[in-house]
Parts: sequence; C-alpha cells; structure tokens
Amino acid sequence: MNIVLFGPPGAGKGTQADNLVKDFNLIKISSGDLLREEIKKKSPLGDKIKLTVDSGSLVSDEIINNLIEITLIDKNYFDRIIFDGFPRNLPQAKTLDGFMTKYKQKISCVISLKVNENVIVKRILGRQVCSKCGLIFNEFFNPSTKENHKCDLNFLLKRPDDNEKTIKNRLAIYQKETLSIFNYYKSQNLLFEIDGMKNIAEIYKKICQIINPIEA
Ligand code: AMP
Repeated sequence: MNIVLFGPPGAGKGTQADNLVKDFNLIKISSGDLLREEIKKKSPLGDKIKLTVDSGSLVSDEIINNLIEITLIDKNYFDRIIFDGFPRNLPQAKTLDGFMTKYKQKISCVISLKVNENVIVKRILGRQVCSKCGLIFNEFFNPSTKENHKCDLNFLLKRPDDNEKTIKNRLAIYQKETLSIFNYYKSQNLLFEIDGMKNIAEIYKKICQIINPIEA
C-alpha cells in the first residue's frame, strides 16, 4: 500500500504520516525532509536548494524527482510508502505514476486534508520540529510533553521557512500549482477528502477508516 497525503502547507500531513508510521507497516517519504537533508550537507546543491526553500518557492522538478526516486528504489520502501509533500504539481504527479509503473507498484489512495487559511498560518507559526527524532509538534495545538516526546525540549526547533512572509508565497504556490493535482487524482477515483480542521486524533481516526479496508 502506497499513500499520498495531500493538502496545503501546515495541513498536518507530516503529523498524520508520523501517526501512520507508528501503527501501520509504512514508511514516510517527506519531500521537504529530503530537501532539508541536502541543505544540511552544505553542498553546492544544498546551498541552491536552501535559497529556494527559504523563499517558499518550489525547487525544480528535476531535483525533487531525483531525490524521490533515489529513496523509493530502496527495497525496504517497497509498497509501504506514505508520500508527504510530493507530488506538488501535475508534472510531479505524472512522474510519480511513472515511478510506480517502473518499480511495479501503485498508489493505493490519496488523502486530502482540507484546512482554512487562517488556521494554516497559526499551525505553521506554531510548528516545532525535534532536531533529534524528527517528530513534529505545535506550541499552540500539540505541544511536546513528557508523554508524547522522549527528547529534551532544547532539540525543538522552528523551521527557517515557517515565517509569515514565506507562508504567503507557499500558500499562493499551493493555489497556483498544487491544487491541480486534486482533480487529477479525483478523476482516477483515488481521492479521499478529510476535514483537516478537526483535532489530530479525530483526523487520524478518519484516515484509519480509509486505510483499514485498503490494507485488509
Ligand atoms: P514541506 O516540508 O513539505 O513544507 O516543504 C518545505 C519546502 O520544501 C517547500 O516550501 C518547497 O520549497 C520545498 N519542497 C518540498 N516538497 C517539494 C516538492 N515536491 N517540489 C518542490 N519543492 C518542494
């Protein structure tokens, strides 16, 4: 089973992907995380990616498609991927279809999280990522506690692109480039829509209701 989590930045895709990884035999591929790993290497490619990511624009299809392909050919990922943040435009969706055919897999479902813009902004501004374990928290909606997080609070960081200026660009790009994927998957009967305004547990319950019959 391969799943695409779809929705605007701040919709909660990463958080729900982490929930799924805990309960199902699935692995998350986050395109944003792959790019941030490249940035950490401080290579010429990483420096180029950083400029784009910090501005809130999309990196080139060539760069992200390569990173995705390198990751998904790992046998460990076979037919158990949650795509978070990829695809983000129609050419990427078509490239992903090509990868699925090439590596004898398929997309089982696309789960779309629908969230209002004012909530998105608050979710992004409150987002904290643990630099040690990678888990995602939110200082307003889902703070790190002793119960949900083992690492020291000092590991919690804000992403450099989670600021008001960049959010506007990211949302504009979502409207202009990413939303077209919605109809692409809808026409293939792969799309499931969920109210992403609900709390994390309620959204997760809905996601499981979609995934359980597919997995069975
Ligand atoms: P995310 O972690 O999904 O919020 O992505 C952070 C940033 O990484 C985005 O604002 C883009 O600059 C870049 N990015 C992530 N995924 C993609 C993608 N599929 N295509 C192009 N750029 C991406």
